[in-house]
Amino acid sequence: MNAPQISQNYSDLPPVLHAPAELLPVAEPQLAIANDKLAAALGISRDWLHGEEALKLLSGSAPAAHGQPLAMAYAGHQFGGFNASLGDGRAMLLGDVMGVDGQIYELHLKGTGRTTFSRGADGRATLSAMLREYIISEAMAALSVPTTRSLAVVSTGERVWRQRPEQGAVLTRVAKSHVRVGTFQYLAVRSQVDAIRALMEHEIARHMPGVSGSRAFLAEVIARQAKLIAQWMSFGFIHGVMNTDNMQIAGETIDYGPCAFMDMFHPQKVFSSIDENGRYAFDKQPVIALWNCTRLAECLLPLLDDDKATAIKMAEAELMNFMPQFEKEFERRMLAKLGISDVAQVEFITQTIMEMANSRLDFTQFFTSLTRGEDVAMPDAWKQKRNGLLASDAQALMAAHNPVYIARNHRVEEALAAAGEGNLLPLHRLLLAVQQPFIARAELAELEKAPGPQEEVLQTFCGT
Ligand code: AMP
Ligand code: MG
Repeated sequence: MNAPQISQNYSDLPPVLHAPAELLPVAEPQLAIANDKLAAALGISRDWLHGEEALKLLSGSAPAAHGQPLAMAYAGHQFGGFNASLGDGRAMLLGDVMGVDGQIYELHLKGTGRTTFSRGADGRATLSAMLREYIISEAMAALSVPTTRSLAVVSTGERVWRQRPEQGAVLTRVAKSHVRVGTFQYLAVRSQVDAIRALMEHEIARHMPGVSGSRAFLAEVIARQAKLIAQWMSFGFIHGVMNTDNMQIAGETIDYGPCAFMDMFHPQKVFSSIDENGRYAFDKQPVIALWNCTRLAECLLPLLDDDKATAIKMAEAELMNFMPQFEKEFERRMLAKLGISDVAQVEFITQTIMEMANSRLDFTQFFTSLTRGEDVAMPDAWKQKRNGLLASDAQALMAAHNPVYIARNHRVEEALAAAGEGNLLPLHRLLLAVQQPFIARAELAELEKAPGPQEEVLQTFCGT
């Protein structure tokens, strides 16, 4: 029986960055769902994960063998407004495990109760929000989009009060690192330049082989974000809360709140019920990611050069690379989805996006139809133009870039509602589809379908 071999290394960083997190036993921990494959990739055995010890450790009730769990400090721009003191208000970093791939991963528990950083809130999480994160993060991973992963959800047997009483739960989140842009901001606003340097070196050592120095570090974060946003958008994904505390330095998608995959395509689509101005709408995501990278660059100025004007010039030069990198990746992916390999056909993407929006097409189904050679509701002129542009390997391109299954919002909500009643079958069925999203299976055909007019979920709430 292999338990995770956990070591706490974040405690080596300056004390300003973390606070001890208290272990609070929960009433009745029960395993709601467990990710056996991910466990195997982390050298954790299935029997441990499904056993008593895991229930205690992964509900935040028992200490890991080595090291004190920590709440991480961070700041953040939330919807544009700066908050100098956020931090893990309901989470704790258990520590590091070594993956079988040789990469270090952090185990982080979300929903474990109040910490130094909780401000007025309860420190808890709902079962439905944690299962939602489990489904969508695992769907993203299966699409090969960099993301934090979900190892397990343990229900606590306790009530959590949101708009109504809900079941409490703890999610075990796995990431290359939980350091965010907001972690750097936390230090910058406190003028802790030495700590900024230490944090940067910590990140470089963990997951940026070959990177050296602050300029290369900034360039690497920018490159990863640019690629990440292009990947999101090629699958119709809207993050929903791209605050700087929700943008991770390692370039993994983090913090699955009111996010969703789009059904009917609209470039200005917003899901989050609290995003009233559409700051984080689908097509704003690259601009916002660049804005967040700019906030990181500001934190790094003292490291870039002693002369501030020189440092700003360096930062600007790197930030200038964001949009071209994003565009290159986005265009390549969108063209591949259309079966086109000639990357010069940028105008055809613009035309496609416009026509898709006009025709109110389902984003994923449209591309699946193209892959299958089915007719699509687009103008004849568009079809003719596309025929002329198709690559010789169009079929392979489309099959590799157009998933059959995404975690459709109405199916996610349906699965969560059933899970709340103790029926996990719809959730497992949905996971079956989205964990192998490019392979169509007749028995899962209904999970391909776009929502009917009555089924469509128009907003996702932050009731977390
Ligand atoms: P999020 O919206 O999940 O990105 O969280 C933003 C900030 O609010 C982070 O500092 C969280 O730790 C904190 N937070 C969110 N929900 C809770 C909660 N129920 N209890 C304590 N802190 C919370
Ligand atoms: Mg967050």
